[in-house]
Amino acid sequence: MQAVVLEEFQEPLDVQEVERPDPEPHGVIAEVEGCGVCRSDWHCWQGDWDWFGYRPDLPHILGHEPTGTVVEVGDDVENIEEGQEIAIPFNFACGKCSLCRNGRENICENHIGLGFMNEAPGAFAEEVHIPNGDINAVPLPDSIDVETAAGCGCRFMTSYHGMAHQGDVGNGEDVVVHGCGGIGLSAIHIANALGANVIGVDLMDDKLDRAEELGAVTTVNAKDVDDPATEVRDITNGGADVSVDALGIETTCRNAVDSLGKGGRHVQIGLTTSDERGEIPLPTDEIVAKEIEFVGSLGLQPSRYSEMLDMIESGKLDPTALVEEKIDIHQVPDELEAMTDFNTVGIPVCNDFSS
Ligand SMILES: [Zn+2]
Ligand SMILES: [Zn+2]
Repeated sequence: MQAVVLEEFQEPLDVQEVERPDPEPHGVIAEVEGCGVCRSDWHCWQGDWDWFGYRPDLPHILGHEPTGTVVEVGDDVENIEEGQEIAIPFNFACGKCSLCRNGRENICENHIGLGFMNEAPGAFAEEVHIPNGDINAVPLPDSIDVETAAGCGCRFMTSYHGMAHQGDVGNGEDVVVHGCGGIGLSAIHIANALGANVIGVDLMDDKLDRAEELGAVTTVNAKDVDDPATEVRDITNGGADVSVDALGIETTCRNAVDSLGKGGRHVQIGLTTSDERGEIPLPTDEIVAKEIEFVGSLGLQPSRYSEMLDMIESGKLDPTALVEEKIDIHQVPDELEAMTDFNTVGIPVCNDFSS
């Protein structure tokens, strides 16, 4: 089958012929119907994130935002059947550790990152293996087709968890999202659906235009103001209730925390780059004085996908609104290359793997 293979970090990527996967007894194989192209693939390609455990031995197949149709099921799998259309989280869980048993599979003790770790070759491929299929394959309701679900990859579902659970975004709250890439735009769309007044902050006008289309009540171009955090505090009469760093660089993280009012909650979704290597200095005394909460958010637990899928079924959320373009597997390397200069808007989805 064809797959996008990472042979050497930072060197050009290409499409290669590789072996089809065989299912483990607990695993299932899905034919990939769609897979989003994400900045996280770009980070993995660059060889970032060894501090996060996301630097695989090479060669390695990239891709971590798939939806698909089940084509083969391991002998020990009980709840998943051939032919089922499924959403697939990127953060595979074991189902046995205490976190999994307490509904926190997204931070499973035995976490395997699809497309980022040796144990899980990625999904820019005709087929992908899903370990512990009973937990990690999420059947789609009949009313949601795989096309629609293809926009629900890591950025959308991660933003759902960040806004609905970790940020606990409520009706009428002021939410500011710093960084309007795929995660940021998804967070804006979702926070708006949860009833918040959302402000988008970015450096690029076309991304801010998309932010407004997706529900931001206003936007700030950080290039046009002295200090975007001061601007947000002015707009919100004292500071936002919830801030999001959707990018993971020092500037956006600091600006997000500085945008908050007293008692505010910061949600960190973006992972840092090779400049920060996982560490960003923060104004801790101010965090104390304002009783600011700083919360991390990783993926979405499969057991809570149903909440997001219900909101999609009822039309409150529309992941297809985030999908900017559909491409074939041979265009994936160029799409990732374009991310070097932040030249992508929204979520590109690869939906043709065999051409
Ligand atoms: Zn676990
Ligand atoms: Zn992603």
